[in-house]
Amino acid sequence: MAALSGSASTLIGTQMTAFAGAASLSQLQNLQPSPRMPVLFVGHGSPLNVIEDNEFRPKWEAMGGEFGKKWPKPQLILCISAHWITRGWWLTGMAQPKTIHDFGGFPQALFDQQYPAPGAPAVAQALAASLQQPHTHAPLGLDEHEWGFDHGSWAVLKPMFPQADIPVIQLSMDYGRPPAEHYALGQQLKSLRERGVLIVGSGNIVHNLRTMQRSASNDQAYDWAIEFDRTIGEQIAQGKLDELQNFQQLGQVAQMAHPTYDHYLPLLYAAGAADDQEAPEFFNAKFQGASISMRSVIWD
Ligand code: ZN
Repeated sequence: MAALSGSASTLIGTQMTAFAGAASLSQLQNLQPSPRMPVLFVGHGSPLNVIEDNEFRPKWEAMGGEFGKKWPKPQLILCISAHWITRGWWLTGMAQPKTIHDFGGFPQALFDQQYPAPGAPAVAQALAASLQQPHTHAPLGLDEHEWGFDHGSWAVLKPMFPQADIPVIQLSMDYGRPPAEHYALGQQLKSLRERGVLIVGSGNIVHNLRTMQRSASNDQAYDWAIEFDRTIGEQIAQGKLDELQNFQQLGQVAQMAHPTYDHYLPLLYAAGAADDQEAPEFFNAKFQGASISMRSVIWD
């Protein structure tokens, strides 16, 4: 839906090659070792969920409230949103990312929303240099100007962490590359969990806007939506995380669940950063508009 224009970013990417190999994850000096953080995949659904009463946002708020209690407060949030699609992979590297209202036709109250969390330029630079583009092994791009927080990230993070005092970096997704590479990049993120980084994938396990029925209750969904959501949910529950990257093999139900699969890919990053042995916990396992699964997962 929203694309980063290629030219300026490519230029930044060229400059970034000077950093290749200059850092490793263990050299992320701004991040202190910590007890292992959980990994989250959040089904975000309609942008209106952040301002309208619904049954999903209270769970996001409650989940956020557990950090600083059950889990340490994150030193950094790394968010992979369905709404940042690029050529190559990029990290936001600005100090004060802007809140992007990347949608149309919604009330002014939604456009008035801001999420003023800081970025983390030094960490982003070290991360960009230490992570590898799965197909080329080149460092990631560092976007210092163009992006910010799209609604896939801020509409979820604002309810979770309303004080906006935890730095947030977004990681883009190269939609031109196959699902296995997204999963592989997710696996590269795993060690960040030992350094206080909360990895948040934000998308939807079923996402078909064309078939949405706004009058449907959150317990109603199409048969194909229920089937795809259940199959993916079972793979997660059984720790068969590697299988998640093969979702297209589910055939017709996969095509209905994801006419485009930008909202599925963030799950692959979260699953890649999780361990098969970790017990996943589901929340918000319901539907919105009969064709959006709000099923969310935390691996801890
Ligand atoms: Zn979305």
